[in-house]
Amino acid sequence: MSRAKSKAPATLARPSIATLAIHGGREAHRPGDPVVEPLVQSVNHVQALGTEEGLKYTRYGNTPNAERVQRRLALLEGAEAALVLSSGMGATACALLALLRPGDHLLSSMYIYGGTHRLFLEEFASMGIEVTLVDPFEPRSFRKRVKKETRAIFVESPVNPTCRVIDLRPISYLTKEEGLALVVDSTFASPVNFRPIEIGADVVIHSATKYLNGHHDVLAGAVMGSQSYIDEVLQKEMLWGQTPDPFALWLLERGLKTLDVRVQRANESAMRIATWAEGRKEVEKVHYPGLESHEDHKVASEILDGFGGMLSLELTGGGKAAERFLRKLRLVTHAPSLGGVDTLVCEPRYTSHAKMTSAERALIGIPDGTLRLSVGLEDADDLIADLEQALK
Ligand SMILES: *Cc1c(COP(=O)(O)O)cnc(C)c1O
Repeated sequence: MSRAKSKAPATLARPSIATLAIHGGREAHRPGDPVVEPLVQSVNHVQALGTEEGLKYTRYGNTPNAERVQRRLALLEGAEAALVLSSGMGATACALLALLRPGDHLLSSMYIYGGTHRLFLEEFASMGIEVTLVDPFEPRSFRKRVKKETRAIFVESPVNPTCRVIDLRPISYLTKEEGLALVVDSTFASPVNFRPIEIGADVVIHSATKYLNGHHDVLAGAVMGSQSYIDEVLQKEMLWGQTPDPFALWLLERGLKTLDVRVQRANESAMRIATWAEGRKEVEKVHYPGLESHEDHKVASEILDGFGGMLSLELTGGGKAAERFLRKLRLVTHAPSLGGVDTLVCEPRYTSHAKMTSAERALIGIPDGTLRLSVGLEDADDLIADLEQALK
Protein backbone atom coordinates (compact mmCIF):
# COMPACT_ATOMS: atom_id res chain seq x y z
CA MET A 1 0.00 0.00 0.00
CA SER A 2 2.32 2.76 -1.13
CA ARG A 3 1.52 6.22 -2.29
CA ALA A 4 3.12 5.33 -5.63
CA LYS A 5 -0.06 3.39 -6.40
CA SER A 6 -2.20 6.52 -6.53
CA LYS A 7 0.29 9.18 -7.56
CA ALA A 8 2.93 9.81 -10.17
CA PRO A 9 6.47 9.71 -8.69
CA ALA A 10 7.27 12.84 -6.70
CA THR A 11 9.57 15.37 -8.29
CA LEU A 12 10.87 18.72 -7.04
CA ALA A 13 8.08 20.39 -9.01
CA ARG A 14 5.50 18.00 -7.45
CA PRO A 15 6.93 17.14 -4.04
CA SER A 16 5.55 14.33 -1.90
CA ILE A 17 3.52 14.78 1.29
CA ALA A 18 6.56 14.38 3.58
CA THR A 19 8.39 17.22 1.80
CA LEU A 20 5.35 19.48 1.52
CA ALA A 21 4.67 19.09 5.24
CA ILE A 22 8.07 20.67 5.95
CA HIS A 23 8.54 23.17 3.11
CA GLY A 24 5.20 23.66 1.37
CA GLY A 25 4.17 27.29 0.95
CA ARG A 26 7.26 28.91 2.48
CA GLU A 27 9.34 31.64 0.80
CA ALA A 28 12.67 30.65 -0.82
CA HIS A 29 15.48 30.79 1.76
CA ARG A 30 18.05 33.61 1.63
CA PRO A 31 21.35 33.83 3.54
CA GLY A 32 20.70 34.89 7.13
CA ASP A 33 17.09 33.65 7.23
CA PRO A 34 16.08 31.61 10.26
CA VAL A 35 15.57 27.95 9.37
CA VAL A 36 12.52 27.86 11.63
CA GLU A 37 9.96 30.43 10.55
CA PRO A 38 9.44 33.01 13.32
CA LEU A 39 6.40 33.37 15.53
CA VAL A 40 4.91 36.81 14.90
CA GLN A 41 2.81 37.25 18.02
CA SER A 42 1.24 40.56 17.01
CA VAL A 43 -2.48 41.10 16.57
CA ASN A 44 -2.12 44.17 14.37
CA HIS A 45 0.42 45.24 11.74
CA VAL A 46 1.54 48.69 10.56
CA GLN A 47 -0.74 49.92 7.78
CA ALA A 48 0.22 51.71 4.55
CA LEU A 49 -1.09 55.29 4.11
CA GLY A 50 -3.97 56.16 1.80
CA THR A 51 -5.25 52.61 1.09
CA GLU A 52 -7.19 49.76 2.63
CA GLU A 53 -4.95 47.28 0.83
CA GLY A 54 -2.75 45.09 3.00
CA LEU A 55 -4.66 45.61 6.24
CA LYS A 56 -3.42 42.82 8.51
CA TYR A 57 -5.23 41.72 11.66
CA THR A 58 -5.20 38.33 13.39
CA ARG A 59 -8.97 37.80 13.16
CA TYR A 60 -8.78 38.28 9.36
CA GLY A 61 -6.63 35.14 9.07
CA ASN A 62 -4.00 37.03 7.06
CA THR A 63 -1.04 37.40 9.41
CA PRO A 64 2.29 35.67 8.59
CA ASN A 65 1.86 32.53 10.72
CA ALA A 66 -1.64 31.99 9.34
CA GLU A 67 -0.83 32.54 5.68
CA ARG A 68 2.13 30.18 5.59
CA VAL A 69 0.43 27.25 7.33
CA GLN A 70 -2.70 27.79 5.21
CA ARG A 71 -0.69 27.57 1.97
CA ARG A 72 0.94 24.40 3.31
CA LEU A 73 -2.34 22.72 4.21
CA ALA A 74 -3.83 23.53 0.79
CA LEU A 75 -0.83 21.83 -0.86
CA LEU A 76 -1.14 18.79 1.42
CA GLU A 77 -4.80 18.22 0.49
CA GLY A 78 -4.37 19.20 -3.17
CA ALA A 79 -6.79 22.14 -2.74
CA GLU A 80 -6.60 25.66 -4.18
CA ALA A 81 -6.82 27.26 -0.74
CA ALA A 82 -7.11 26.53 2.98
CA LEU A 83 -8.16 28.36 6.12
CA VAL A 84 -7.13 27.53 9.69
CA LEU A 85 -9.75 28.13 12.37
CA SER A 86 -9.68 28.00 16.14
CA SER A 87 -11.11 24.46 16.47
CA GLY A 88 -12.44 21.57 14.42
CA MET A 89 -15.95 22.61 15.41
CA GLY A 90 -15.22 26.19 14.30
CA ALA A 91 -14.06 24.78 10.97
CA THR A 92 -17.17 22.61 10.52
CA ALA A 93 -19.55 25.41 11.52
CA CYS A 94 -17.97 28.06 9.27
CA ALA A 95 -17.48 25.60 6.36
CA LEU A 96 -21.21 24.79 6.32
CA LEU A 97 -22.47 28.29 7.11
CA ALA A 98 -20.62 29.37 3.96
CA LEU A 99 -22.63 26.81 1.92
CA LEU A 100 -26.12 26.85 3.46
CA ARG A 101 -28.86 29.47 3.87
CA PRO A 102 -32.18 29.25 5.73
CA GLY A 103 -34.48 27.00 3.67
CA ASP A 104 -31.58 24.87 2.40
CA HIS A 105 -31.28 21.15 3.03
CA LEU A 106 -28.16 19.21 4.03
CA LEU A 107 -27.78 15.45 3.66
CA SER A 108 -25.38 14.06 6.24
CA SER A 109 -24.04 10.65 7.10
CA MET A 110 -25.49 9.48 10.42
CA TYR A 111 -21.99 8.49 11.62
CA ILE A 112 -20.56 11.88 12.57
CA TYR A 113 -18.71 13.46 15.49
CA GLY A 114 -20.99 14.22 18.47
CA GLY A 115 -20.40 17.97 18.29
CA THR A 116 -21.18 17.97 14.56
CA HIS A 117 -24.39 16.03 15.25
CA ARG A 118 -25.57 18.66 17.74
CA LEU A 119 -24.51 21.52 15.45
CA PHE A 120 -26.64 20.07 12.64
CA LEU A 121 -29.70 18.99 14.63
CA GLU A 122 -29.86 21.80 17.20
CA GLU A 123 -28.12 24.91 15.83
CA PHE A 124 -28.82 24.49 12.12
CA ALA A 125 -32.42 23.45 12.78
CA SER A 126 -32.97 26.67 14.73
CA MET A 127 -31.60 28.64 11.75
CA GLY A 128 -34.07 27.03 9.34
CA ILE A 129 -31.49 24.70 7.77
CA GLU A 130 -32.92 21.20 7.48
CA VAL A 131 -30.56 18.25 7.99
CA THR A 132 -31.40 14.63 7.10
CA LEU A 133 -29.21 11.89 8.55
CA VAL A 134 -28.53 9.00 6.19
CA ASP A 135 -26.96 5.56 6.57
CA PRO A 136 -23.93 5.86 4.25
CA PHE A 137 -23.54 2.06 4.02
CA GLU A 138 -27.00 1.49 2.60
CA PRO A 139 -26.72 1.55 -1.23
CA ARG A 140 -28.23 4.65 -2.92
CA SER A 141 -29.17 6.06 0.49
CA PHE A 142 -28.07 9.62 -0.39
CA ARG A 143 -29.53 9.54 -3.89
CA LYS A 144 -32.96 8.57 -2.52
CA ARG A 145 -33.08 11.60 -0.23
CA VAL A 146 -31.87 14.39 -2.52
CA LYS A 147 -34.55 17.06 -2.97
CA LYS A 148 -34.87 20.43 -4.65
CA GLU A 149 -33.52 22.30 -1.59
CA THR A 150 -30.50 20.00 -1.06
CA ARG A 151 -27.22 21.92 -1.33
CA ALA A 152 -24.57 19.61 0.08
CA ILE A 153 -23.66 16.13 1.33
CA PHE A 154 -21.56 15.80 4.49
CA VAL A 155 -19.65 12.66 5.45
CA GLU A 156 -16.99 11.74 7.97
CA SER A 157 -14.68 8.82 7.13
CA PRO A 158 -13.20 6.63 8.54
CA VAL A 159 -16.09 6.44 11.00
CA ASN A 160 -15.63 6.72 14.78
CA PRO A 161 -15.10 4.22 16.51
CA THR A 162 -15.82 1.24 14.20
CA CYS A 163 -13.35 2.58 11.61
CA ARG A 164 -15.79 1.80 8.80
CA VAL A 165 -14.64 3.42 5.54
CA ILE A 166 -17.26 5.15 3.38
CA ASP A 167 -16.80 4.70 -0.36
CA LEU A 168 -16.78 8.31 -1.56
CA ARG A 169 -16.70 7.40 -5.25
CA PRO A 170 -20.46 6.88 -5.82
CA ILE A 171 -21.24 9.84 -3.56
CA SER A 172 -18.96 12.16 -5.53
CA TYR A 173 -20.58 10.92 -8.74
CA LEU A 174 -23.97 11.88 -7.29
CA THR A 175 -22.84 15.33 -6.09
CA LYS A 176 -21.32 16.14 -9.51
CA GLU A 177 -24.49 14.99 -11.27
CA GLU A 178 -26.80 16.98 -8.98
CA GLY A 179 -24.57 20.05 -8.60
CA LEU A 180 -24.16 19.58 -4.83
CA ALA A 181 -21.08 20.22 -2.69
CA LEU A 182 -19.41 17.14 -1.19
CA VAL A 183 -17.96 18.01 2.22
CA VAL A 184 -15.69 15.46 3.94
CA ASP A 185 -14.46 15.50 7.54
CA SER A 186 -11.16 13.69 6.95
CA THR A 187 -9.76 14.09 10.48
CA PHE A 188 -9.22 10.35 11.11
CA ALA A 189 -7.27 9.79 7.88
CA SER A 190 -5.05 12.90 7.62
CA PRO A 191 -3.74 13.83 4.15
CA VAL A 192 -1.07 11.15 4.49
CA ASN A 193 -3.65 8.35 4.26
CA PHE A 194 -6.39 10.00 2.22
CA ARG A 195 -6.93 13.13 0.14
CA PRO A 196 -10.69 13.29 -0.61
CA ILE A 197 -10.33 16.04 -3.25
CA GLU A 198 -8.47 13.51 -5.47
CA ILE A 199 -11.66 11.47 -5.70
CA GLY A 200 -14.11 14.29 -6.17
CA ALA A 201 -14.76 15.98 -2.80
CA ASP A 202 -15.22 19.76 -2.95
CA VAL A 203 -14.47 20.62 0.67
CA VAL A 204 -12.22 18.91 3.24
CA ILE A 205 -12.46 19.62 6.96
CA HIS A 206 -10.01 18.64 9.70
CA SER A 207 -9.89 18.90 13.41
CA ALA A 208 -6.23 20.01 13.30
CA THR A 209 -6.24 19.27 17.03
CA LYS A 210 -5.71 15.63 16.01
CA TYR A 211 -3.16 14.33 13.45
CA LEU A 212 -2.26 17.65 11.78
CA ASN A 213 -0.82 19.10 14.98
CA GLY A 214 -0.35 15.72 16.59
CA HIS A 215 1.02 16.67 20.01
CA HIS A 216 -2.10 17.10 22.19
CA ASP A 217 -1.25 20.78 22.75
CA VAL A 218 -3.15 22.83 20.14
CA LEU A 219 -6.87 23.19 19.46
CA ALA A 220 -7.42 24.12 15.80
CA GLY A 221 -9.39 23.24 12.68
CA ALA A 222 -8.90 23.57 8.94
CA VAL A 223 -11.06 23.89 5.83
CA MET A 224 -9.77 23.30 2.29
CA GLY A 225 -11.47 23.97 -1.03
CA SER A 226 -11.55 26.35 -4.00
CA GLN A 227 -10.25 29.90 -3.52
CA SER A 228 -13.70 31.46 -4.03
CA TYR A 229 -15.25 29.11 -1.47
CA ILE A 230 -12.46 29.67 1.10
CA ASP A 231 -13.06 33.45 0.70
CA GLU A 232 -16.65 32.79 1.81
CA VAL A 233 -15.51 30.68 4.78
CA LEU A 234 -13.14 33.51 5.72
CA GLN A 235 -16.11 35.91 5.98
CA LYS A 236 -17.73 33.50 8.47
CA GLU A 237 -14.48 33.04 10.38
CA MET A 238 -14.00 36.82 10.72
CA LEU A 239 -17.58 37.56 11.77
CA TRP A 240 -18.11 34.60 14.10
CA GLY A 241 -14.63 35.17 15.56
CA GLN A 242 -13.20 31.70 14.88
CA THR A 243 -9.59 32.69 14.13
CA PRO A 244 -6.70 31.11 16.05
CA ASP A 245 -3.91 32.95 17.78
CA PRO A 246 -0.46 33.15 16.04
CA PHE A 247 1.11 30.89 18.68
CA ALA A 248 -1.40 28.11 17.95
CA LEU A 249 -0.62 28.53 14.23
CA TRP A 250 3.13 28.41 14.86
CA LEU A 251 2.74 25.23 16.92
CA LEU A 252 0.53 23.74 14.19
CA GLU A 253 3.25 24.49 11.60
CA ARG A 254 5.81 22.81 13.85
CA GLY A 255 3.57 19.77 14.38
CA LEU A 256 2.88 19.45 10.65
CA LYS A 257 6.57 18.99 9.84
CA THR A 258 6.49 15.46 11.27
CA LEU A 259 3.03 14.57 9.94
CA ASP A 260 4.23 11.97 7.46
CA VAL A 261 6.52 10.03 9.83
CA ARG A 262 3.95 10.21 12.63
CA VAL A 263 1.11 8.87 10.53
CA GLN A 264 3.26 6.17 8.87
CA ARG A 265 4.39 4.98 12.31
CA ALA A 266 0.82 5.01 13.66
CA ASN A 267 -0.33 3.03 10.57
CA GLU A 268 2.34 0.36 11.18
CA SER A 269 1.81 0.08 14.92
CA ALA A 270 -1.99 -0.01 14.63
CA MET A 271 -1.72 -2.85 12.10
CA ARG A 272 0.54 -4.78 14.48
CA ILE A 273 -1.75 -4.20 17.45
CA ALA A 274 -4.86 -5.13 15.45
CA THR A 275 -3.25 -8.35 14.21
CA TRP A 276 -2.09 -9.25 17.73
CA ALA A 277 -5.52 -8.48 19.23
CA GLU A 278 -7.35 -10.57 16.64
CA GLY A 279 -5.65 -13.68 18.01
CA ARG A 280 -6.65 -13.08 21.66
CA LYS A 281 -9.52 -14.96 23.27
CA GLU A 282 -10.26 -11.98 25.59
CA VAL A 283 -11.10 -9.90 22.49
CA GLU A 284 -14.45 -10.57 20.83
CA LYS A 285 -13.86 -8.37 17.80
CA VAL A 286 -11.23 -6.01 16.39
CA HIS A 287 -12.34 -3.15 14.17
CA TYR A 288 -9.44 -2.11 11.92
CA PRO A 289 -9.76 -1.54 8.16
CA GLY A 290 -6.32 -3.08 7.56
CA LEU A 291 -7.62 -6.49 8.68
CA GLU A 292 -9.17 -8.73 6.06
CA SER A 293 -11.98 -9.44 8.54
CA HIS A 294 -13.08 -5.76 8.47
CA GLU A 295 -16.25 -5.17 6.43
CA ASP A 296 -14.66 -2.31 4.46
CA HIS A 297 -11.21 -3.79 3.90
CA LYS A 298 -11.66 -3.81 0.12
CA VAL A 299 -12.88 -0.19 -0.16
CA ALA A 300 -10.15 0.93 2.26
CA SER A 301 -7.47 -0.83 0.18
CA GLU A 302 -8.76 0.91 -2.94
CA ILE A 303 -9.13 4.48 -1.72
CA LEU A 304 -6.75 4.91 1.24
CA ASP A 305 -2.93 5.09 1.18
CA GLY A 306 -2.77 3.78 4.77
CA PHE A 307 -5.25 2.17 7.14
CA GLY A 308 -4.69 4.68 9.95
CA GLY A 309 -3.79 4.75 13.61
CA MET A 310 -7.32 4.28 14.97
CA LEU A 311 -8.81 0.94 15.95
CA SER A 312 -11.34 -0.43 18.36
CA LEU A 313 -11.49 -3.57 20.43
CA GLU A 314 -14.60 -5.27 21.74
CA LEU A 315 -13.68 -7.13 24.93
CA THR A 316 -15.33 -10.51 25.51
CA GLY A 317 -16.47 -9.63 29.05
CA GLY A 318 -18.38 -6.44 28.10
CA GLY A 319 -18.37 -3.26 30.21
CA LYS A 320 -16.98 -4.96 33.36
CA ALA A 321 -14.01 -6.37 31.44
CA ALA A 322 -13.35 -2.95 29.91
CA GLU A 323 -13.22 -1.34 33.36
CA ARG A 324 -10.82 -3.99 34.71
CA PHE A 325 -8.64 -3.60 31.62
CA LEU A 326 -8.48 0.20 31.82
CA ARG A 327 -7.56 0.13 35.52
CA LYS A 328 -4.53 -2.08 34.77
CA LEU A 329 -3.03 -0.08 31.88
CA ARG A 330 0.30 1.57 32.68
CA LEU A 331 1.52 3.08 29.40
CA VAL A 332 -1.65 3.66 27.41
CA THR A 333 -3.48 6.73 28.74
CA HIS A 334 -7.22 6.84 29.38
CA ALA A 335 -8.17 10.15 27.73
CA PRO A 336 -10.42 11.51 24.98
CA SER A 337 -9.17 12.91 21.65
CA LEU A 338 -6.84 11.21 19.19
CA GLY A 339 -4.13 11.52 16.61
CA GLY A 340 -1.21 12.54 18.81
CA VAL A 341 2.13 11.15 19.94
CA ASP A 342 0.70 9.47 23.09
CA THR A 343 -1.37 6.31 22.71
CA LEU A 344 -4.84 6.96 24.11
CA VAL A 345 -7.78 4.75 24.93
CA CYS A 346 -11.38 5.72 25.62
CA GLU A 347 -14.76 4.07 25.99
CA PRO A 348 -17.28 5.39 23.45
CA ARG A 349 -20.12 4.69 25.97
CA TYR A 350 -18.67 7.45 28.19
CA THR A 351 -17.44 9.79 25.44
CA SER A 352 -18.66 10.10 21.84
CA HIS A 353 -21.74 7.87 22.28
CA ALA A 354 -22.71 8.69 25.88
CA LYS A 355 -26.08 10.12 24.80
CA MET A 356 -27.27 6.76 23.40
CA THR A 357 -28.59 3.78 25.36
CA SER A 358 -26.58 0.58 25.63
CA ALA A 359 -28.98 -1.15 23.21
CA GLU A 360 -28.80 1.69 20.66
CA ARG A 361 -25.02 1.52 20.72
CA ALA A 362 -25.02 -2.26 20.26
CA LEU A 363 -27.19 -1.79 17.17
CA ILE A 364 -24.53 0.35 15.45
CA GLY A 365 -21.68 -1.98 16.35
CA ILE A 366 -20.51 -0.44 19.63
CA PRO A 367 -21.61 -2.80 22.44
CA ASP A 368 -20.48 -2.04 26.01
CA GLY A 369 -16.92 -3.28 26.36
CA THR A 370 -15.82 -1.45 23.21
CA LEU A 371 -12.57 0.46 23.60
CA ARG A 372 -11.26 2.95 21.07
CA LEU A 373 -7.51 3.16 20.69
CA SER A 374 -5.59 6.05 19.12
CA VAL A 375 -2.19 4.54 18.50
CA GLY A 376 0.69 6.95 19.17
CA LEU A 377 4.40 6.80 18.58
CA GLU A 378 5.62 4.61 21.44
CA ASP A 379 7.36 1.35 20.51
CA ALA A 380 4.70 -1.08 19.27
CA ASP A 381 6.17 -3.96 21.34
CA ASP A 382 5.89 -1.86 24.49
CA LEU A 383 2.28 -0.99 23.65
CA ILE A 384 1.41 -4.64 23.03
CA ALA A 385 3.12 -5.61 26.31
CA ASP A 386 0.99 -3.07 28.17
CA LEU A 387 -2.24 -4.19 26.49
CA GLU A 388 -1.35 -7.83 27.11
CA GLN A 389 -0.70 -7.46 30.86
CA ALA A 390 -3.94 -5.49 31.21
CA LEU A 391 -5.96 -8.22 29.45
CA LYS A 392 -4.74 -10.96 31.81
C1 LIG B 1 -12.30 16.07 17.37
C2 LIG B 1 -13.12 16.03 16.13
C3 LIG B 1 -13.86 17.14 15.73
C4 LIG B 1 -13.93 18.42 16.53
O1 LIG B 1 -12.67 19.03 16.61
P1 LIG B 1 -12.23 20.04 17.79
O2 LIG B 1 -10.86 20.44 17.36
O3 LIG B 1 -12.30 19.28 19.07
O4 LIG B 1 -13.21 21.18 17.76
C5 LIG B 1 -14.57 17.04 14.53
N1 LIG B 1 -14.55 15.91 13.79
C6 LIG B 1 -13.85 14.82 14.16
C7 LIG B 1 -13.87 13.60 13.31
C8 LIG B 1 -13.12 14.84 15.36
O5 LIG B 1 -12.43 13.75 15.74
